[in-house]
Amino acid sequence: MQRRAQELSQVIQGENLQQSGLVEQCLEGLQTAMEELQVAQEELRQKNEEVLRAQETADMERQRYQELFELMPAAYLVTDLYGTVREANHTAASLLEISCSSLIGKPLVVFVPSLQRRSFRTLLNRLSDIMQVQFLDIKLDTWKKNSFQAEIYVDGVRNFYGQVIALRWLVIDVTARKQAELHLREVQRQNLELREADRLKDEFMRMVSHELRTPMNAILGFSELLLQRFSRSPDSQNLMMVQSISRNSRHLLRLIEELLDFSRLQTYQLRLNLDGFDLTELLQSTAAELHSLSEQKDLAFHLILPTEPLMVFNDRSRLHQVIVNLVANAIKFTHEGSVTVELVELPEGRVAIGVRDTGIGIAPEHQAQIFQDFWQVDQSSTRRYPGTGLGLAISRRLVALMRGSLTVESEPGQGSLFRIELPRTVPLEASLPSESFH
Ligand code: ADP
Repeated sequence: MQRRAQELSQVIQGENLQQSGLVEQCLEGLQTAMEELQVAQEELRQKNEEVLRAQETADMERQRYQELFELMPAAYLVTDLYGTVREANHTAASLLEISCSSLIGKPLVVFVPSLQRRSFRTLLNRLSDIMQVQFLDIKLDTWKKNSFQAEIYVDGVRNFYGQVIALRWLVIDVTARKQAELHLREVQRQNLELREADRLKDEFMRMVSHELRTPMNAILGFSELLLQRFSRSPDSQNLMMVQSISRNSRHLLRLIEELLDFSRLQTYQLRLNLDGFDLTELLQSTAAELHSLSEQKDLAFHLILPTEPLMVFNDRSRLHQVIVNLVANAIKFTHEGSVTVELVELPEGRVAIGVRDTGIGIAPEHQAQIFQDFWQVDQSSTRRYPGTGLGLAISRRLVALMRGSLTVESEPGQGSLFRIELPRTVPLEASLPSESFH
């Protein structure tokens, strides 16, 4: 504009004003200058608006940051390089049990227990040239003198030139976490002790059962001899006594065997002795052994077998033990009706053995528990049915070792069906003890 006006005045000075057309030329020049002025004014107005908008955005951002800072669930503080609080959010104030307004202006060191203040100040001195986030694990005292364990992260606030002009602090109360960690360590220690005690108990049980088994076998052997002798004698009193000795020692021996098996299974020392045999023959001989038991209780005993022999590869004596346990239980918990043992050949090289009774049955809520160690439905000291509560626990583990399953279906008052499902050929690895099958 200035340039244009100068040009015009030079023109006016150098020319005769009377000359026609000159004034017009001047006016035109002025007109153009005015238009340029208007454009410049418009541009200026637009720029102004942009600046205003930018300022609004900056204000909004500042507001948002302030809200974020306030609502942050973690405690945030900004201090100067001497550790005097300049800004603090609500969480920080409530953590330190002081109002926000009182916290501003206080040196942070007042929340550090007196014994640690010197090292805190040393640390503060080092923070003026802080290069990366620093971590502090420290105990803090609140304004009301309650202490808590804190984890602190400190970082520098830098100016345009990268100089640290303030410090920002994130304070986390880790008292509960520290206590939980302490508690966890204590539980782990107790766990180790318990495991050791458990191992010692297993060891002790194995040793005692082992020691008892030899004399019990001797007592049983001699009582069988005496039984033979007295069975021909007319003295019924002696015969009854020897029968009682024999019965009780057999019972005790079974108990000892159960305890021994249990402890071997617990310590993964039980191995299967695999061999080929006819399963129908095993079931026939087992049924013959237990038939008299069912007769004593007037129960019908049914054995349903395939017509052809069914060869399997398994541990005969362990499978016999499982079947005896299931059938003895079926007889023990049945007062009238029948016990049925059935063998079925399944597709894909599998077989199923079912032991069904018409006895007292098992309530649904107890059906999973009966397979637990020492668990019995009737746990009272005056219970009607004898036993250790180990039979099913041992049976299920043995069947698992055979790569099979043992399940139950039952209805209280109606009876139960225990079902063993097995592969006809148990893989040879099953003869090696393995933890994964317990
Ligand atoms: P035990 O027979 O020595 O008590 P088991 O482990 O063999 O131990 O059985 C655990 C419990 O399961 C038994 O005490 C009984 O309560 C229940 N149970 C097992 N078999 C039957 C069954 N055929 N009918 C009803 N209850 C049974």
